[in-house]
Amino acid sequence: MISIQGKGVSTGVAAGPLYFYQRAKATLRRYTVEDPQAEFARFKAAQATAVEQLAVLAEKARAEAGDEAAALFETHQLMAEDLDFEEAIQELICEGANNAEAAVTDVAAQFAEMFACMDDAYMQARAADVRDVSGRIISILSGVAQGGIDSPVPVILAADDLAPSETVQLDKSKILGFITEGGSGSSHTAILARTMGIPAIIGVGDQLKAEYEGRPVIVDGSTGNVVVDPDEATATYLMAKREEQLRFQALLEQLKGLPNVTRDGQNVRIYCNIGSPDDVHPVLSNDAGGIGLFRSEFLYLNCDDYPSEDYQFEAYKKVLSDMGGKEVVIRTLDIGADKQIGYFNLPQEENPALGNRALRICLNRPEIFRTQLRALYRASAYGRLSIMFPMVTSVWEVKEAKKMCRQVMDELTAEGIPFDENVDLGIMIETPAAAVMSDRLAKEVDFFSCGTNDLTQYTLACDRQNNDLGRFFNPHHPAVLRLLKMVADNAHANGIWVGICGELGADLALTETFLSIGIDELSVSPRAVLPLRKKVRETDVSAVREELLADLLSDQNTI
Ligand code: PEP
Ligand code: MG
Repeated sequence: MISIQGKGVSTGVAAGPLYFYQRAKATLRRYTVEDPQAEFARFKAAQATAVEQLAVLAEKARAEAGDEAAALFETHQLMAEDLDFEEAIQELICEGANNAEAAVTDVAAQFAEMFACMDDAYMQARAADVRDVSGRIISILSGVAQGGIDSPVPVILAADDLAPSETVQLDKSKILGFITEGGSGSSHTAILARTMGIPAIIGVGDQLKAEYEGRPVIVDGSTGNVVVDPDEATATYLMAKREEQLRFQALLEQLKGLPNVTRDGQNVRIYCNIGSPDDVHPVLSNDAGGIGLFRSEFLYLNCDDYPSEDYQFEAYKKVLSDMGGKEVVIRTLDIGADKQIGYFNLPQEENPALGNRALRICLNRPEIFRTQLRALYRASAYGRLSIMFPMVTSVWEVKEAKKMCRQVMDELTAEGIPFDENVDLGIMIETPAAAVMSDRLAKEVDFFSCGTNDLTQYTLACDRQNNDLGRFFNPHHPAVLRLLKMVADNAHANGIWVGICGELGADLALTETFLSIGIDELSVSPRAVLPLRKKVRETDVSAVREELLADLLSDQNTI
């Protein structure tokens, strides 16, 4: 038996065979070719296919996202056919007898390096385009199959790390548990695992060896322990723990249908966070009151190209209809930082978390924002929609976003398309700037939802993706909690509601504090709904409020 310790980020015990995630990326093969002319012809054929694919993408982009998006693919077409690029490849193949994949890789690396070293930021950004175009040609040459899980039975999935786009594309019915070498508890992979109710362990480093593939493994998401080839005693103990958890779950079942009311009569709404229209089932089966955060960017992460207005409309409509009139808060696109999408072709940034992300991208690329807003407003006719903007720092950003909503409503009215005129508009409070300006921001919107994952990151200057920061990333820090209180006070002074949709909302050690500062809504992963309801129903806020608030503001509370 081999025991490995990591960090548990999604609870539960799961047992199954270990399976290493297969990346779609081809491993580069290098070999000498016997017929360089034939090899160059193979390159030319792949180049022609790439150009054809890019032409189709450009037209699709034009139809769905306008000329700016199309121009990007047209530039890629030009790059794929660039004569200097082609001649350099021809030289490596015809004179060096290199295979086409190796020649494209080497020439692309040279060209990308050349762009990256230029002074001009625009030209530097072209390095990513070169990699993108050559990646396409290399995939065509090597006929790479899509990555994923090629196993007839469900598995415990191991990976070095999983990008959010990789996580969303996986067949969830095949996954019993996750183990990653790196990662952090507030990474999107961890969040997705919690949403899906799948035990997950991160940060096991190099302890998982390739030879463990296929061997029986048990993961315990609450302790972060992984055992490979468990002995009988360990297996019995862990499976008993699993049984115990299932029993606790059964106990929680009895709370279904009961209100989220404290002993002294304070109500709080308990909603759910989701990342896909397919996540509605666990929301309803756990008896949540609504959806407090639909991370719409996962729709984009799931596509190879900008999702069209109709595609998005169908997805939003499905969530709204499936929720049967319960409130659904859909957050507009929040990409950037750890959620990168190739086809957005965003320039590489030194500090992506502080860079071009979320609402900033939407305001800078209005054609993308407009498509999403049209889809959202059209879907609003099918349920109770609220729209929420992420990563706000200034009042002007909110005014500009609201103006775009107005324009979209006017367009739909002119086109005779039905929509709800009274969709509530809210913002996420994820930056210290938004928290400090919440008195002003509250006059612009119908609600606030505090994104404590980012609020903690930005307040404490701690990268949420960095597992090594450990104790420095402390969402219980009084700086974070005081900001939450300030936001709640400003919301209530202006007659709007305030929620928490970051992971902290499910932290039972803080439920009394949140109730004491008057948080109106907690949006959590579906599995956290009933434990939270249990905690709320056991709490008497009047008995703890004074002491907790005094402690929060006390000079002694410095951490
Ligand atoms: C947050 O930052 O707390 C949040 C809910 O948004 P995300 O985790 O998607 O950045
Ligand atoms: Mg966030």
